[in-house]
Amino acid sequence: MASASLPSTPLTRRSLLFAGFGLIQHHLDVVVLAGIEFESWGAGRGPRSYLRIHSNEQTAKEALLAHLAARPGPALLVRGSSRNVTVAGGRLDPNRMFTREGAEKSYRRLNPEWGPAEMAKALDWLDRERPRLLERLLPEKGGLLISAHNNSEGYSVEDEVASSDRLHLPRRREPHEFFLATSESDFKKLAQGPYNVVLQSGQKGDEDGSLSRTCARLGVRYVNLEVGSGKLAMQIEMLGFLEKALPE
Ligand SMILES: [Zn+2]
Repeated sequence: MASASLPSTPLTRRSLLFAGFGLIQHHLDVVVLAGIEFESWGAGRGPRSYLRIHSNEQTAKEALLAHLAARPGPALLVRGSSRNVTVAGGRLDPNRMFTREGAEKSYRRLNPEWGPAEMAKALDWLDRERPRLLERLLPEKGGLLISAHNNSEGYSVEDEVASSDRLHLPRRREPHEFFLATSESDFKKLAQGPYNVVLQSGQKGDEDGSLSRTCARLGVRYVNLEVGSGKLAMQIEMLGFLEKALPE
């Protein structure tokens, strides 16, 4: 086993070298950002980075790891087994923490016993941590952030139609599989393919603290790939299409 260790950060709790995983040897660290443990594959910023933010979405993890076998990453995957995480003493949906307003809504829903002082303390702490989280998460300037999600029976592309600026829905009868892009140029390229795509480059709808809204506001190219839970082959196929459709 070659030991091509990458530099570890002060955040690293432990490091493991994973070898023989496809063509690229991946160095796996565990990092803590905004109080959340992430598996960190690859290192540094690149033109393309990958994320699995809901740790109960196992298919998304398997798809990403298979996809990354031949790619350098970097990738961050939230550790654990439930959708929500504990941050600053309260339960929180990690895809609602990218703005103070969104985090407050999620904290309020998941921690109904909290009073104003507990809420303010948690939100202030998160405000201080968020820049470092984004610094690690976002790709280099002009790069692309790819986030893999899974949904079950409830959520589908139909829930995104009202908040979207443009739609390409050739498979509207398969609404659980879709891309959500924040860049119009990326949307146009993805919309040449056979999959559902929505563009959310504006700020329509309620501020929910999601990463897609934050990327849209910051002008960061972001594509969210949603696939029904368990549809591993489909998620790998759509990741492959995404890479080809949006060349670096
Ligand atoms: Zn998700």
